[in-house]
Amino acid sequence: MDYISTRGTGAVSSAEAIKTGIAPDGGLFVPESLPKISDSLLREMKSMNYQGRAVEILSLFLTDFTREEIKSCVEQAYNSESFEDPGIAPLKKLSKTLYVQELWHGPTSAFKDMALQIMPRFLPLAIAKTGEKNEIVILVATSGDTGKAALEGFKDVAGTRIMVFFPDQGVSEVQRLQMVTQEGHNVGVAAVKGNFDDAQNGVKAIFANKELAQELESKGFKFSSANSINWGRLAPQIVYYFSAYLDLLNDRAISPEEPVNFVVPTGNFGNILAAYYAKEAGLPIGKLICASNKNKVLTDFIRDGKYDRARQFHKTASPSMDILISSNLERLLFHLSGNNSLAVTEWMKELTEQGHYNVGADILVKIQQLFWSESASDQETMSAIKEVFQETGYLIDTHTGVALNVYKKYQSATGDLTPAVILSTASPYKFNSSVVESLLGPESVEGKSEFELLEILSRESNTNIPKNLKGLDKKPLLHRQVVEKEDLTRVVKKFLEK
Ligand SMILES: *Cc1c(COP(=O)(O)O)cnc(C)c1O
Repeated sequence: MDYISTRGTGAVSSAEAIKTGIAPDGGLFVPESLPKISDSLLREMKSMNYQGRAVEILSLFLTDFTREEIKSCVEQAYNSESFEDPGIAPLKKLSKTLYVQELWHGPTSAFKDMALQIMPRFLPLAIAKTGEKNEIVILVATSGDTGKAALEGFKDVAGTRIMVFFPDQGVSEVQRLQMVTQEGHNVGVAAVKGNFDDAQNGVKAIFANKELAQELESKGFKFSSANSINWGRLAPQIVYYFSAYLDLLNDRAISPEEPVNFVVPTGNFGNILAAYYAKEAGLPIGKLICASNKNKVLTDFIRDGKYDRARQFHKTASPSMDILISSNLERLLFHLSGNNSLAVTEWMKELTEQGHYNVGADILVKIQQLFWSESASDQETMSAIKEVFQETGYLIDTHTGVALNVYKKYQSATGDLTPAVILSTASPYKFNSSVVESLLGPESVEGKSEFELLEILSRESNTNIPKNLKGLDKKPLLHRQVVEKEDLTRVVKKFLEK
């Protein structure tokens, strides 16, 4: 199965798509035709564990990788050393018709691990398959979760190096410590004086610098990106939708072929798009419920078909969803328009030049058949966290809180009683300050360090602090660089001399 760009060029193998990241014409790689799973395979997968299911689903999409290769990547990615729960992405039951799938048992306590534990394993294979001779250099600008998850995923992976830049004023203390204590022989980390945009613009400038690319190629290096537009990050996310459905079947919460709704806290539209691919591949999914925070550009889009990023940006208690440009939406529009790359190219041009585009009535109808969307304020999110904890004793983070509030809005708007799964994208410990505040009020967090808050949360909820966060304040500082934003190219060159 080949991959083509949403802007019209291609076709390439999945190995090439994973190695390149973004397509040369600026578009995103998508499968040329969408695979279907057979009924018999779906039945067989019922008795498999997460790893077995991952091999089956990934084999449907990465057809130029052998089954043995995929199996070996899966085993290296999803194991008891990297994931604290043997179920990898276990379901928790909140009521007869509502479940939560926990996607945060990986090494950085956020759902980015589901993809970033395995994508770096694909990369050396993709390099070999495409005859690439250069060492791959991954550059990341991060506002928090992605940087650490990418470092953990790429550390000590042969044929790769990774350099991460984070804004020195823009990440939480836990997030900063996670990165500056990172181990591994092929990793680099630097704080950039400035905000996230300064770090991001610096990295973008390096990617766009053709001279630098040539100079480094002569020394045996080639840049690539690990961000969520890479197909290697999307494919692994399709797996857990299947896994949730099969777990529900095993739990007798549903009967075979009965539909399930999924509720997804959404930012860049990667997670929920993977659900769309699962549905297209034959998984009985009812509605895909897209949950936004105050940056509700997607909610408005799913209402009226007009994507409008020209609006105020809000900092919220669910920062990983603070996004105004949801890049992966481009893939959905390509499929729903019948592979109309000309229309997609035009919309993306309008987005860049005017800040908005309108997909028209026909595509809007298709979008609304698949998706429903609402948004939640910080206040509503924090109430949702408190309420579910008081009623069930189950603790959720702020991103999951957005999803829970939106699910309640969906139920009162539609009365739909279809069983639903909320995708839980972060451990409550990762956003401890907002979670403690939700439970105990604003006074309870005043003057407390993040490490005191971890202890409070553990006592209050009677759950364990994730291994990777406990003791973080006692780990040795390995990366002390703080650099000027104009200086990123020099920093990268120096990193590659090592
Ligand atoms: C990245 C992230 C999201 C958003 O996922 P998308 O795939 O970008 O829609 C939601 N929650 C958390 C905790 C995240 O880290």
